[in-house]
Amino acid sequence: MSGSVRHFKLVLLGDTAVGKSCLVVRFVRDEFFEFQEPTIGAAFLTQSVQLDSSVVKFEIWDTAGQERYRSLAPMYYRGASAAIVVFDLSNKESYNGAKSWVKELMRRGDPNVVIALAGNKADLPASQRKVETEEAQAYAEENNILYLETSAKNASNVKNLFVEIAKKLPQQA
Ligand code: GDP
Repeated sequence: MSGSVRHFKLVLLGDTAVGKSCLVVRFVRDEFFEFQEPTIGAAFLTQSVQLDSSVVKFEIWDTAGQERYRSLAPMYYRGASAAIVVFDLSNKESYNGAKSWVKELMRRGDPNVVIALAGNKADLPASQRKVETEEAQAYAEENNILYLETSAKNASNVKNLFVEIAKKLPQQA
């Protein structure tokens, strides 16, 4: 890693079981467990990405439980520079949940928060897909947020998700 290091708080939001913890574990440790232990409270991990001439170090808050304790969520995303809102591509309800998280972040989060919508479990067979790429893509464009389809299971697009966020963060922090 080389260049100046900039630190940013990043939170994960989304319904239960969409793969938030698995995405973090894949990104930070490059591992995947079929039975990821549910996170108690907020797990805190760090990981960096190298850009052309600088390093972005993410302080990652995995906000497990916020689905049940939604009123606590603002505590997690307060001061966050970036948020990944995750849904499960095989679960339409989780997509609707993700959209409501995006709305809440836009209304109550930091005005400059960089938001990425992640359609996770992209490794599942097409027959299980409940949300089309074009639909989520159009929603993301309308709201000026990133959209990527990821798989914590086979690692596809996971690092890229964080790199794309890093590129959108302010150059001077
Ligand atoms: P969280 O509640 O959102 O943190 O979800 P978890 O990370 O605990 O994952 C919930 C379940 O989804 C677990 O059984 C994981 O093994 C599974 N899972 C997570 N990511 C993926 C993925 O990319 N593909 C598939 N097929 N399963 C996944």
